[in-house]
Amino acid sequence: MLINTDYLVVGAGATGLAFADALVAEADVEVTVIDRREAPGGHWLDAYPFVRLHTPSAFYGVNSLALGEDRIDQVGENAGYYERATGDEVFEYFAEAAGRLTKTGLVRVLTGHEHLGAGSDGEQIRDLSTGELHDVAVRRKVVDARYLEGSIPATHTAPFEVAPGARLVPINDLPAAAESGSSYAVLGSGKTAADACSWLLDNDVQPDRIRWIRPRDAWFHDRSHFQPLEQVGAIMEGISLDAEAGADAANIDDLFERLEASGRLARIDPAWPATMYRGTMLSARELAALRQIEDVVRLGRVRRIEADRIVLERGETKTGPDVLHVDCTALGLNNAPATPIFGPGRIVLQQVRHLSPCFNAALVGFIEAYRDDDADKNRLCPPNPYASSIEDWPRMMSRTWRTEGRWLSEPDLSAWVAKSRLNLLRALPDHAAEPSVQGTVTRYLTHISAAIERLKRLDEDTALSVRPGRSTVRS
Ligand SMILES: Cc1cc2nc3c(=O)[nH]c(=O)nc-3n(C[C@H](O)[C@H](O)[C@H](O)COP(=O)(O)OP(=O)(O)OC[C@H]3O[C@@H](n4cnc5c(N)ncnc54)[C@H](O)[C@@H]3O)c2cc1C
Repeated sequence: MLINTDYLVVGAGATGLAFADALVAEADVEVTVIDRREAPGGHWLDAYPFVRLHTPSAFYGVNSLALGEDRIDQVGENAGYYERATGDEVFEYFAEAAGRLTKTGLVRVLTGHEHLGAGSDGEQIRDLSTGELHDVAVRRKVVDARYLEGSIPATHTAPFEVAPGARLVPINDLPAAAESGSSYAVLGSGKTAADACSWLLDNDVQPDRIRWIRPRDAWFHDRSHFQPLEQVGAIMEGISLDAEAGADAANIDDLFERLEASGRLARIDPAWPATMYRGTMLSARELAALRQIEDVVRLGRVRRIEADRIVLERGETKTGPDVLHVDCTALGLNNAPATPIFGPGRIVLQQVRHLSPCFNAALVGFIEAYRDDDADKNRLCPPNPYASSIEDWPRMMSRTWRTEGRWLSEPDLSAWVAKSRLNLLRALPDHAAEPSVQGTVTRYLTHISAAIERLKRLDEDTALSVRPGRSTVRS
């Protein structure tokens, strides 16, 4: 079978769908979205049962369809903040979004199909249910919506040996297996490990029955700074604190001390150096709960779990048959090196504005619809790899701010950004007259130019100390 299409989008996760949605809203084109998974939604199909969005639903998903009802939660650790969809809700949302796109007649969504690459008669895809190969004749572009595909607990393989008799479960299996453990060893440094610990604490496991094996300590945002709509002033406050710390920072350590002192970032143990930054967030209540866990092992990554001990990079610690080990070591977001987003016959979706994956994919769709020249498109959308460590923060922030500055001189683009439901600042104009918001805007405007310059220099200093794998695409 030969399929003809203007765009072939590989990946029906959040970014592939957000791109297709924004593109067909602006251009009369045919788009085919394929995914090897059996339904749209990407990694959410394999998410752990108690996962929720980290950020409010209000600015997640595709531009044309609201997720949730912009409710403010009244109870629980998210009390006072905008609702965050559960994994099931995100999954159902993307099914609906894909269905609505299909109904436009402009979008075809083929799940259970794998992209194999370019063949002699166009792009080759395989129907995974029959094994049949099909050619896709692409009139305009192949869109790679899987370049940043992350590694998630359900699909990754534990990168260490597990001896017979030692009990290891992925976080997905924790609820089913929890009762069989009398104590728990949670393996991993990031948000998934924090979620596993929070789930145990919420299910009445005493903190002294949890051992947390953390190769690195992480910085977390305070969730209060990611509240949109009526609370958008808090987002502006967070950004203004970033700018102030960036403008004044003497070096990376000083930068993170300033971000912590201002309440912008927090670490679970303030007495221990944190080197990991993945852009994840916790509420003050979650943080307080996690701080109850005192048995933290910091001996590097796990090498081997034996029946009676865990062997790590820099030592070992005891374990036993009654300990349930919970694997939270999957990488999560993929901080692949930057590559131009727009090229001849090709688009590679990546981060542009920090911490806004759906917004960025939709933005690329809008720019694809209204700009012709790849150099111009790349000027407006320079790639900005996900951060992994504190050294990545200056590059990520200064690149975001420089790029946002370029959007301001493009009226159509600025108008689209201002209206987009995926833009976390969209309600700012409605609140601009409030004194507290004015204060944060003034702080931001006072510091932003100096912050861009200072952070650019800190990034260059880091690059000079040569970290392998750093991006070579500059903006
Ligand atoms: C637990 C978790 C919670 C998160 N919460 C938030 C949040 O609250 N807010 C936020 O902004 N971000 C969040 N993120 C980050 C990010 O927004 C999401 O991960 C987002 O869903 C990623 O979408 P994606 O399209 O980039 O990738 P994916 O969801 O990984 O989709 C890529 C798709 O490509 C498909 N694919 C790959 N290769 C091929 C091939 N050769 N042929 C066909 N198909 C292929 C895969 O099957 C996959 O479905 C979260 C991430 C995780 C892991």
